[in-house]
Amino acid sequence: MPNLSDYNSFYQGFRWQNERNKLVGLPDAKGLNIAYEAVDRHALGPLKNTVALRWLRKDKSVEVATYADLQKRTSQFANVLENLGVMKGDTVFSFAGRIPELYIAALGTLKKTAIFCPLFSVFGPEPVWQRLSRGNAKVLITTSFLFNKTVQQILDRLPNLQYVLLTDAPENSSTQILSLPGLMRQASEQFTIPATDPECPALLHFTSGTTGMPKGALHVHQAVLTHYMTGKYVLDFHEGDVFWCTADPGWVTGTSYGIIAPLVNGVTNIVDEEEFDAARWYSILEAQKVNVWYTAPTAIRRLMRMDIRPREVYHLENLRLMLSVGEPLHADAVVWCQKTFGIPVLDNWWQTETGGIMIANFPSMPVKPGSMGKPLPGVEAAIAEATDTDLKIIQAPDKQGQLVLKKGFPSMFRAYLNDEERYNKCFRGDWYITGDLARKDADGYFWFVGRADDIIKTSGHLVGPFEVESTLMEHPAVAEAAVIGKPDPTIGELVKAFIVIKAGNVANDDLKLDIIGFARKKMGPAVAPKEISFLDSLPKTRSGKILRRLLKARELGLPEGDLSTLEQS
Ligand code: AMP
Repeated sequence: MPNLSDYNSFYQGFRWQNERNKLVGLPDAKGLNIAYEAVDRHALGPLKNTVALRWLRKDKSVEVATYADLQKRTSQFANVLENLGVMKGDTVFSFAGRIPELYIAALGTLKKTAIFCPLFSVFGPEPVWQRLSRGNAKVLITTSFLFNKTVQQILDRLPNLQYVLLTDAPENSSTQILSLPGLMRQASEQFTIPATDPECPALLHFTSGTTGMPKGALHVHQAVLTHYMTGKYVLDFHEGDVFWCTADPGWVTGTSYGIIAPLVNGVTNIVDEEEFDAARWYSILEAQKVNVWYTAPTAIRRLMRMDIRPREVYHLENLRLMLSVGEPLHADAVVWCQKTFGIPVLDNWWQTETGGIMIANFPSMPVKPGSMGKPLPGVEAAIAEATDTDLKIIQAPDKQGQLVLKKGFPSMFRAYLNDEERYNKCFRGDWYITGDLARKDADGYFWFVGRADDIIKTSGHLVGPFEVESTLMEHPAVAEAAVIGKPDPTIGELVKAFIVIKAGNVANDDLKLDIIGFARKKMGPAVAPKEISFLDSLPKTRSGKILRRLLKARELGLPEGDLSTLEQS
């Protein structure tokens, strides 16, 4: 029986305060802290011996932490920060794969009321530097491998970074580069979480923009209400559940749902350190007896292309619920999952700025394949026509417009770090403009149409064209660059660059390879272009802005003026 059995009546009667009452808050009414709700509260209660996290390591070993273990280790990490002089509001970054230390650091940082910011481990030095410097990182947790490969070469450009904690270094190598295991050994397992105002900043997630460098969306401890509530009603957590979220904590899904939501709901959270591998994934579902699986369309499309009938090969009878987020989940994928797993895959929508799921297909609701579902109780979503100064809600069904959300839910971002102007630009009065285009049908279901801007979604990750263009321009042969997302059947969109070369260079395949290699080294394979075309000049507006959409329309063979067709493609 799903936790939310009657969407309409629950939506009507919903109050965020009722969800707040289901959490406990810090002892002595000292506020609300995500890590207390996710860890300590369970460690002090009947779930203390329940497995909180089970890490499946690359070397095939398995590491396990109960809620009681997790309390001790996260407290130790909070004490490590305390001993290093980290203060409330300082930023602590991680740059690592899905290793146990990342999870301990995230929760320990929240206990210390510092701000945690995870970075995707596939980033090259430039995206890492951009984010560390914009986020004013004081402490960075990383591995020796990533330190040597990526961090060391940018260290002298990060004057405010005080400490780098290496997760696998047996000893300190300088007063700045320290051994995390060494520091943990010396740190006490007792830590009293300080008073935490629910509005205290907790998490920083960088997301991509079209016109500038990445922007840091800041979230507060109160966001835990959304994590708790969506865990309960969208992921439909029940006592004893085993949950697996395949997203990396370097992206918001991997933190909100790969760390916080399952723990706040007291279930067992599986973390796989390895990358996608169909046979491995099916084996994990079987061996770990996963009940609820949260994944992404890119992964589902990859599974669809394999000649494996999972239910004939693997025991998947524990799998009760399958969910997807991050990109459009087309109707054929929904139908394939129903046929292949015997259950539908429930699409849901949200973004870095909203901190948690906003629109969802709830387990008790009939699924319309291809639709993102209906708004979360406590969230008002609408379709609107927006100008620079004004916004008009479109009431008529099936009309395409901007997807907007009414302010007032707990996990709404509170700022773009050091960029108030950009933050203010996202709002018209109480309405937040998401940057997505969508439709709402007569039954209240939302349908994704496309992005209203030039941001690229590749393998489920946002990439800002400006960031890529800026790096490409550093190549000695590049005079100008424009970057678009080119539709791709597996990864959604691939990053494609159009390049104007400087006089004296020859536009040939060798130069293409050289530029791609240069970009991969600087930015990492997740961000660098996969395809390049040379042009004599770039199309621009009168004011000199690159017309990326025109390039995209040409690439797709669409009529150049028809942007609505482009959006729907
Ligand atoms: P991010 O901030 O990286 O989580 O990316 C958020 C963006 O991903 C949204 O603004 C959408 O453009 C896209 N997105 C997220 N979920 C969905 C979905 N269910 N269907 C279509 N697009 C989605």
